[in-house]
Amino acid sequence: MNILAYFLAFLFVAAYLVIFDKVGKLKNFKFKNLIPAFLLIAVFIVRYFSIDKRPILSTGHPLFVGIDSFAKIGLGDGIAFLALIGDALSVTMFVVAVMSLFYEKFPAIDRFIRYIFPIGSIICLLTCTDISLILRGGENIELSVFTLTLMAECGAYLALSAFRWFKAIEEGWFKDKNNFSAKSIVTSLIVGVLIVLVTLPAYFVQFTYGYMRGYNYAYDMSRTHRVYVYLMFIIPLTIYFSLRGKDDRTIRFSLIFISVSTMITYSICYSYATLTDISSWPFHLCNTAMYVVPICLIFKWKRLFYFTYFINVLGAIFAMLMPNYDETLNIFTYEAFHFWINHWCAFFFPLICVALRQFDRPKLKLFGYSMFWFFGYFVLVLFLNVYFTAHGQSVDYFFINSDFIGDKLGKTGRDFFKNSRVEFTYGEYTYAFYPAYQLVFYLAYVGLGFGMWFVYELVFSISAEHRELYERRKKIRLDKYALMAKLNGRSIEEPMNPDAGTRLELKNFSKRYGTNKYYSVSGASLTVYGGEIFGFLGPNGAGKSTIIKSIVGIQPITEGSIEVCGFDCAKQPVMSKRQIGYVPDHYALYEKLTGREYINYIADIFEVSKEDREARINEYVSLFELESSIDNQIKTYSHGMKQKITIISALVHNPKLWILDEPLTGLDPNSIYQVKECMRRHARQGNIVFFSSHLIEVVEKLCDRVAIIKKGKIQCVKPIEEIEKESSLEEFYMKIVGEEDLDDEQRKLRELKMAERGNN
Ligand code: ADP
Repeated sequence: MNILAYFLAFLFVAAYLVIFDKVGKLKNFKFKNLIPAFLLIAVFIVRYFSIDKRPILSTGHPLFVGIDSFAKIGLGDGIAFLALIGDALSVTMFVVAVMSLFYEKFPAIDRFIRYIFPIGSIICLLTCTDISLILRGGENIELSVFTLTLMAECGAYLALSAFRWFKAIEEGWFKDKNNFSAKSIVTSLIVGVLIVLVTLPAYFVQFTYGYMRGYNYAYDMSRTHRVYVYLMFIIPLTIYFSLRGKDDRTIRFSLIFISVSTMITYSICYSYATLTDISSWPFHLCNTAMYVVPICLIFKWKRLFYFTYFINVLGAIFAMLMPNYDETLNIFTYEAFHFWINHWCAFFFPLICVALRQFDRPKLKLFGYSMFWFFGYFVLVLFLNVYFTAHGQSVDYFFINSDFIGDKLGKTGRDFFKNSRVEFTYGEYTYAFYPAYQLVFYLAYVGLGFGMWFVYELVFSISAEHRELYERRKKIRLDKYALMAKLNGRSIEEPMNPDAGTRLELKNFSKRYGTNKYYSVSGASLTVYGGEIFGFLGPNGAGKSTIIKSIVGIQPITEGSIEVCGFDCAKQPVMSKRQIGYVPDHYALYEKLTGREYINYIADIFEVSKEDREARINEYVSLFELESSIDNQIKTYSHGMKQKITIISALVHNPKLWILDEPLTGLDPNSIYQVKECMRRHARQGNIVFFSSHLIEVVEKLCDRVAIIKKGKIQCVKPIEEIEKESSLEEFYMKIVGEEDLDDEQRKLRELKMAERGNN
């Protein structure tokens, strides 16, 4: 029978391998994932229901690896614990395996299959009841359906893992440095732990913890205990949420106040008499937190702080979750409060201090420091333990002087403690150490602390995001109130000045950048009307861009106001922007998009209807002769084409005010002509075209009126016609700006012209 059974399991695995390999390679075969998945599911279902678990669920260990009683097969502590892990993994591997057939490209899942599947399968097989009995020399043991199906499954998992390994090696696994990067290892670990957690069988905690403590079951936490555990989360969350919006001074004051107060109330058991007896001092792990936290907060001692952050928090969590308290405990007693206040504080204070930004989120270096402090502390209490015990006082600081913790791990833990005892006699006293036990204890703590670090990071990155969101929302709310006050009851969509019509108005506008002492523009007043092409002339650095950037809302206004069609740029920023189309002096486009996609994207922002945008895009595309390239990626365009895309996207919502900052730089004559035509058309439709340039001739031919600006001050605003009655625009400009303020290009042009005139 045995042989037949092995043969059947082997047959399944072989068939599975062939199907998985062959079917997986068929390109157009619809069911290529379904068949191997279906096979695995069928085998799992047979195994899943093959033992009647009802009786054992309430009495023994109903394990997925088929161990219904550890006693029956006489497993030792270590192997039994392995069996518990295999039990959990057998479910994890099933779900991962089936899902991975449908979702291939998850690197962390891929690693789970490659690394954990072989380990998990072997653990499952070795600890399975029947196989384990055979391995221990049992004879005539019939393999149950359960065992057979488990073997078949594990074979399939091993095969899957092997396939993934082949593929990884084929793709150059050895050469890929990413496989060994800290980030990929940490992600894989986190994902691995999470997927195992999700697939843990429902009885896992009760049986595992119960078994480890030497019982069939772990006992329930008493009701009293639960109340305290709920409070362990409610108190810090309350403190955190009530303080997070406060200013730093209030947060610091509150944290110092609470930590100092709890330290004083906690220390109530001490008197001068006890202070002189060093064995009663609070050296115990969680006790130290009561003193370390206020000291670190007051003196801002970083290094010591991370000691409590990594060590005390963890210790306190364990201490609070251990079911040590029974129903009869009077929760109002001093002892109960003393214990819980201490452990709550040790648990949440360090975390709150970081969440409320009194200390930074730790880096690896700080973890190192904290472990260094911890080592010093560990050695100190170790000697104190040994010394006091030898002198007849019963102390067990940090639980390293007794098997208090070892006991929780069952017989193995207790034996390990007992066997590692080393003692020596000095004078009349015997000093006892437990070096191996104590070293493992220290290393386990360092390992757990390191593990906690990742949990903290996860929680703090979530809390940091929430905090940012909270602050942003608060700011939006405040801005809204401020705006409402400014609007004085008017709706945000209603123009401040409803009679303005198509008009741009600067009222005494001044602008100072950041901490500059001087004004880049001062006292500028100007009104431009619909239907006008308005030119803005001035040498470099005169303040043209500054004014334009303030109109379009890129720069805040220092003094005065700007209105666009009656909407105040500062108070109604969105509505005023809706009236504006802006062509900046340096375009910035999303070059991976095609021209059409980009324009559509901008049209989406301005909520332009489908019909309108299509009509406008077609119109401008043909005007600018872009038909053949509009559906190519922007990165393939020339400078002129990119400039044209910028222009179309500024016009796609048909703005009342079209602003162009030096739009003709770098364009060829044909494009210049097209752009100028476009400006004329837009103005003819009753809109404002407002454009800055240092090309005097262009301005002269194109504009109805000009403003000349010099050193941040508007020198004059005049119709071109009026200027031309007396002289050319150039002469007029020269009179106002003066030779010394010409920019290089203007100077060159002027010199050329002078030379021409001389020649004539
Ligand atoms: P224009 O466009 O006429 O060449 P700008 O408006 O760019 O002139 O510049 C006007 C003045 O403002 C200049 O003195 C310039 O140095 C200053 N300025 C411009 N932008 C900034 C900025 N972002 N930060 C500080 N000063 C600036």
